[in-house]
Amino acid sequence: MSAHASRQQAIESITDRSPVSTTTGGPLSEIWACDVFDLATMEECLSKSAFKEMKKAVQTGAPLDPATADIVAAAMKDWALGKGVKFFSHIFFPMTNITAEKHDGFIVTNPEGKAITEFTGSLLIKGEPDGSSFPNGSLRMTNAARGYTAWDPSSPAYVMNTANGSTLMIPSVFFSWTGEALDKKIPLLRSNAAMNTAAQRVLALLGETEIDTLNSSCGAEQEYFLVDSHFANLRPDLLLAGRTLFGAPSPKGQEFDDHYFGAIPERVQVFMQDFEDTLYRLGIPAKTHHNEVAPGQFEIAPYFEAANVAADHQQLMMTIMKSTAKKHGFTCLLHEKPFAGVNGSGKHVNWSVGNSTQGNLLDPGTTPHDNLNFLVFCGAVIRGVHLYGPLLRAVIASAANDHRLGANEAPPAILSVYLGDQLEAVFEDIRAGKVATSSDGGMMELGLSQILPFTRDPGDRNRTSPFAFTGNRFEFRAVGSSQSVSGPLVAMNTMLADSLSWIADRLETEFAGGASQIDAVSTVLQELMELHGNVIFGGDGYSEEWHRIAVEERGLRNIPTTADALPAFLDDSIISLFERTEVLSPVELESRYEVYAEQYILSISVEAKLCVELATTVIYPAAMAYASELAAGMNAAAALGVEVDPGPVGELSAGCTALLAAVAELRSGLDVHDFETTEAHMKFCADTIRQLMDAVRTHADALETQVADAAWPLPKYREMLFIK
Ligand code: ADP
Ligand code: MG
Repeated sequence: MSAHASRQQAIESITDRSPVSTTTGGPLSEIWACDVFDLATMEECLSKSAFKEMKKAVQTGAPLDPATADIVAAAMKDWALGKGVKFFSHIFFPMTNITAEKHDGFIVTNPEGKAITEFTGSLLIKGEPDGSSFPNGSLRMTNAARGYTAWDPSSPAYVMNTANGSTLMIPSVFFSWTGEALDKKIPLLRSNAAMNTAAQRVLALLGETEIDTLNSSCGAEQEYFLVDSHFANLRPDLLLAGRTLFGAPSPKGQEFDDHYFGAIPERVQVFMQDFEDTLYRLGIPAKTHHNEVAPGQFEIAPYFEAANVAADHQQLMMTIMKSTAKKHGFTCLLHEKPFAGVNGSGKHVNWSVGNSTQGNLLDPGTTPHDNLNFLVFCGAVIRGVHLYGPLLRAVIASAANDHRLGANEAPPAILSVYLGDQLEAVFEDIRAGKVATSSDGGMMELGLSQILPFTRDPGDRNRTSPFAFTGNRFEFRAVGSSQSVSGPLVAMNTMLADSLSWIADRLETEFAGGASQIDAVSTVLQELMELHGNVIFGGDGYSEEWHRIAVEERGLRNIPTTADALPAFLDDSIISLFERTEVLSPVELESRYEVYAEQYILSISVEAKLCVELATTVIYPAAMAYASELAAGMNAAAALGVEVDPGPVGELSAGCTALLAAVAELRSGLDVHDFETTEAHMKFCADTIRQLMDAVRTHADALETQVADAAWPLPKYREMLFIK
């Protein structure tokens, strides 16, 4: 079959498709969390004392004693076997953005050769996958590649169903034999603990007496594209790189804004319902879904949960999204920029911190006292973003996200904070020392009358800010759609921990000098605003003016590429931040830098190789074949004495020559290997390889507009984006 015939056939097959009927459904009351070994299930099948121990472990992170672990393991096994499960797996999150699993059978044979099932507390708690192929920076020698997984009781076990059977999944941490973190979960748990310690100190200084453990929360909005798999399978770039390396713009794109929140196509609607039913069974609170800005783009947002559980659920969601899409004949693209010229996909990470006694500390609240807590925590965030903006930029850095950040569709590569008009005015009052301080019978008055009737921002007021306050939380909007939310959450929790410690130190000094509570708080917040208020920005983050002001007048950094961003992990201030807060040791941090840098270099190399291959073996031959066909037609016409314009043939062959020349340059770029440092190698990828790839693409895309539609081998943008 000719290349084009397969394109034609794909269109016909898609036209004949009808929605796939689903089997997962059922009333919400029946399916909600039915495959989760959660506290409610445990309460039913554990003894009172074992349940009490377990609940404590879940809620406070206290370790579980081996005897209780055995009891829990036995109950978990019986529960899972009752659901037809034959295998179990520790599931963990290595330093890449992926999820890893190692499956083991429950089965062992006894001396009589009979199959019995076995699952002890120690099997539940600890696993030992061969970790040699997981990226580890240089933390482990490959010959001592033992990696361990250990159960994280704060994230519930669950049963994952596939067409071939069901597996008990046990959320786990992953670490080296020397005890270093090799995953994304350990630092998240540690950052939460660091934030809790610092927050306890501050709340006590603010006069709180009963302070429950603080936890961070996360609600992540996920954007994604669906492309019919008939098309995706004909695009090696979508399959290998997750994005189109070639493709002329479609005459119609997103300019009519007719997709955003529009009616959801039926096949997509059926996919979403199936997907969400699967999520409900796993206790993942999918809440909102809608069409996104670009044609073929959608969004799903679950309700927020404790950060650690939300992060596990987010990973699980990405996995299920892809497999469910496949079932419905779609390929789900989580890449940050699958199609040039239309919007890319991000993941808005909504984040707040709180506990059961003081509530959400990023909620202004309704009493002056709540307001005071709020202002201190909000101030701490402002300081954090100002001091650690480059860290926030580094944790969202990837080859794919570089296509989005700084383009006019996503937040700029400059980290600033958006507070909304009202709250910005309040913090400006604080900076100007306009806080009235009166103490009336111990009750504090802030003198900030604006704050009490504070109306909540509807949330999406300023889409151009990378880090926006949205009424009772901050929304980190610059995170990439394929990324794990753990990195951003670790950075936010850790910077908050650091700021809260700084505030606690400063408050103690003020108190030691005899200051009243309200005076101490306003002095410290005023100082904080003088030092860090520059990071607050309420204007248009896309404007060129802001790019200039941010850098020249505000002293903020514009960090356009991953090559520029990742070295932040090697900065003394960042190393010290993570060491002080005990979130990552210098060795662990450096290993992360190495892994992320390697991932960046690898992704660009793979794309570049694929670019060379497709240009040489698919695009050039198609364009040449068509040029020869035209030339032959011209000769035939000339033989009949008919004059034909030779222009198109000339243009095509000039285009082909230019394409080959650009490919040759990219090839020589790929042959450069002698880099002094990893940083130099990353810079070369960012500044040279990416540019050479763009040049190849420019010529290829021009050819696409010249070659007859019937002779073009790759599915086109207008087809992939619009045919459902
Ligand atoms: P929008 O599109 O306006 O940003 P959505 O409702 O689509 O709003 O998504 C907001 C996300 O923020 C949801 O996941 C929601 O559960 C989450 N969220 C709401 N309140 C909080 C909070 N206090 N802390 C963390 N996340 C929150
Ligand atoms: Mg949002």
